[in-house]
Amino acid sequence: MEYTEKLDSWRRVMRGTNQRNPRCVALQGTVGISVWCTIHPRRSSVCREFVASWQDGQRNPRCDQARQVHDMEPLAPDAWDDPHDLPRAA
Ligand code: SF4
Repeated sequence: MEYTEKLDSWRRVMRGTNQRNPRCVALQGTVGISVWCTIHPRRSSVCREFVASWQDGQRNPRCDQARQVHDMEPLAPDAWDDPHDLPRAA
């Protein structure tokens, strides 16, 4: 499977992320219920650098905004209390 597509002469993006209703080709599951990245260990630096709200002790307004688009509440600081448990989807 081809995971990326050309954005311009210099850059590539994950297929599906450069459209009006972005949906990365590597994302599986149902947003708001349960999703996972099928290439998580090999995901791009852009993905690695995006930190979910409170994952590092700080709010990420872009994370909150992305959740809001899908009618999901922003993550709360206690979402990361148990490092073995992933935050609830909604
Ligand atoms: S983390 Fe995975 S599913 Fe999310 S945008 Fe990056 S490659 Fe796609």
